[in-house]
Amino acid sequence: MKTYVAPDLVAELAAAGRAVVLFGAGDIGVLAHEALTRLGVRVTCFADGRQSKQGQTLRGLDIWAPERLAELPADSHIFLCGNYLTTMTARLRAMGFSEIHDCVALLDGFDFRGSDTGMDLVLIERKIALHKWECMKAGESAEEPLVLKYLDVVVTEACSMKCQDCSNLMQYYTKPRHSDLDLLDSAVDRIVAAIDGIYEFRVLGGEPFVNPRVHRVIRKLTGYEQVQKVVIYTNATIVPRGDNLDCLRHEKVVVEITNYGAHSRKHDELVATLRENGVTHLSKIPVWTDSGRIRFVERSDAELDDMFRNCCVNDVLTLLNGKLYRCPFSANGTNLGAIPDDPADVVDLTSDTSGAALRAGIRRLYGRTTHLRACGYCNGRDYRTPRIEPAIQIRKPLPLV
Ligand code: SF4
Ligand code: SF4
Repeated sequence: MKTYVAPDLVAELAAAGRAVVLFGAGDIGVLAHEALTRLGVRVTCFADGRQSKQGQTLRGLDIWAPERLAELPADSHIFLCGNYLTTMTARLRAMGFSEIHDCVALLDGFDFRGSDTGMDLVLIERKIALHKWECMKAGESAEEPLVLKYLDVVVTEACSMKCQDCSNLMQYYTKPRHSDLDLLDSAVDRIVAAIDGIYEFRVLGGEPFVNPRVHRVIRKLTGYEQVQKVVIYTNATIVPRGDNLDCLRHEKVVVEITNYGAHSRKHDELVATLRENGVTHLSKIPVWTDSGRIRFVERSDAELDDMFRNCCVNDVLTLLNGKLYRCPFSANGTNLGAIPDDPADVVDLTSDTSGAALRAGIRRLYGRTTHLRACGYCNGRDYRTPRIEPAIQIRKPLPLV
């Protein structure tokens, strides 16, 4: 582990007694609070744009609505702890604040062992790395490196569960297929060659272990030097064996289990197998929003742009059947034929596009700030989208209307 050196700013804040705000009452906010408190800095409050958080408390501090920050002096220090760095910075500058910081220098390398953040160390490491890559993305311009936070690699359209409200739209597939692995290999090779780095590949379906050859994809992805992590998302209904287990014993691999309770019928067996085999893993109980329906709703461009900007998966590039999309809903909705193709919303890797042309295409798609065609068919996926019960099972695929 590298030696952690607290940024100079911390000593200044510990001495000065200025107001310190953590903007974003999520996991990065919790980690920033833990680090600052242990470094002797008193945090004034959290702030968060989500109404569901405002008026609550977190770690003994109030969560303010952003407008309320106007009560604080302009020399207050504000740490950005969320994903909407550009939008938040603009908003805070408009309110007269200039001491605005991200949390990279504060959190990178901080020793969280023994902390009471409610997150295990594997998750903490990923959260901090993703924040760091989010900051790099926000700071880059056309001449600068093209780095991606993460890229979803879909290995199958099939799932061992049939969730009525799956936000990846598995409930609509009537004849799900496994991905063509030659096409997938070729597409990933060209993407990696066209960019400067990527923090995380995420291998998913459906259920990735439904595909008996998922090991081939995992081995390929872990082999790229520029890639730091390969995360496999599973619903814990299948315990991988043979090659599909062997490929997980790799320092870059993290198996992220979504624990759906009784539906995740092999959960304990899977955890035991991963533990016995030294595979890094974590298990999470999901919280779902009502984001798994395909239904066109007439909305204005301004409404759609607002949906897109606030969406929590608007930067989850998704590779599906040789095409790169901006989000999983756009990928699966288009793949299902339920959302009209829009060349502006996709980078087509079924052709031989590569090199500079591909780089420009990925930069255009990843840097885009206006809505996708798919947003018109989506119920949104942000703090305003209603919460629903996860993983209600259905017997048959839902019809596409
Ligand atoms: S949400 Fe349900 S249907 Fe969708 S991928 Fe996960 S387990 Fe499968
Ligand atoms: S279609 Fe738009 S609103 Fe829906 S998940 Fe994708 S980016 Fe978000």
